[in-house]
Amino acid sequence: MKKIENIFNLTISQLEFHLTNLKEQKFRAKQLFEWLYKKQIINLDLMSNLSTSLKQKISKSFNIKIPLLYKVDSCLQDNSHKFLIKTYDDKLIESILMIVKKRVTLCISCMIGCPLKCSFCATGSELKFIRKLETFEILGQILTIQNYIRKNNIADKITNIVFMGMGEPLLNFNNVKKTIEILLDPNGFSMSKRKITISTAGIIDGLSEFINKYKIKLAISLHFPFEEQRSIFMPINRKISLESLIKELKRIKLAKRDYITIEYLMLNKINDTLKHAKQLVKILNGIKTKVNLIPYNTTTSFNVEPSSEENLNYFAKYIRSKNIMVTIRRSKGKKIKGGCGQFILNSGKK
Ligand code: SAH
Repeated sequence: MKKIENIFNLTISQLEFHLTNLKEQKFRAKQLFEWLYKKQIINLDLMSNLSTSLKQKISKSFNIKIPLLYKVDSCLQDNSHKFLIKTYDDKLIESILMIVKKRVTLCISCMIGCPLKCSFCATGSELKFIRKLETFEILGQILTIQNYIRKNNIADKITNIVFMGMGEPLLNFNNVKKTIEILLDPNGFSMSKRKITISTAGIIDGLSEFINKYKIKLAISLHFPFEEQRSIFMPINRKISLESLIKELKRIKLAKRDYITIEYLMLNKINDTLKHAKQLVKILNGIKTKVNLIPYNTTTSFNVEPSSEENLNYFAKYIRSKNIMVTIRRSKGKKIKGGCGQFILNSGKK
């Protein structure tokens, strides 16, 4: 039997193509996009400007389903919410919503588990890598959660999307790319490119072309400025060296006020010394960056202490003294096990 395509897997030009095959006019794709993404109505019966015969064709040709919400854990102290969403094959995916004043950021997953197996990250080391998510499952997180937060008066609208949940976005390139096209599409979510951030552990295939084309924000999980040490904790570095990653970053054309975010996990006495700070400054020379220091969130499989507050501040001060922007990420959602690297699908309550 031919698999029916999920409508949320399609960019507008792909939808136009399908509709033309169904002997419908192209502009119907635009109308459908407006219902699905602008009005976020997924019930065909409510799409008032589409004829009954078109609706029939659509319901025969496409699946119009998104994964359903399975569980929500909220942390009232820091206004973060962890969502578990169930996929059609009964797996769970995680997304975290973080609210800071008017900024409502949703951190989404692009895989179930992660094949990269960075030793400090619970997703890679404690969960099996199962599969990549399809576009409708990535978008589904946004649609389901948007609907939930509005209904429950948590927030009006998701304003920022970060690909920092489970999985490596650049190893699910096609589906992530389609998601981004739909997010940016003026007939789709119509989001600003500055409100979308993709984070990678250092997959460089097509990276600069991708960022140069879509101009979304890029974050790099750099964490270790020395090759040998990075290879120990991030196995991907054995295949794609830091040197080649840095070279690739230099090919990215940044607009005047843009920069690349360098994520740097702060591990006590492992990568938080002056030697590391000096090397970091050295390798970042010539790239417009902002270093985001991330205090390590403990995971059970990696027995290392987070850096002390003193080291964190010292490290930040040194880098700042070299005229590189620095921020310290205060990870949200830790109480609900939704902090960076803690995505392992438990409810966080126990
Ligand atoms: N695979 C992508 C997307 C995940 S982003 C990437 O690696 O960039 C999640 C971010 O949290 C990454 O920067 C990751 O390195 C960081 N992280 C992983 N484990 C962590 C932990 N235990 N504490 C704090 N940050 C962690």
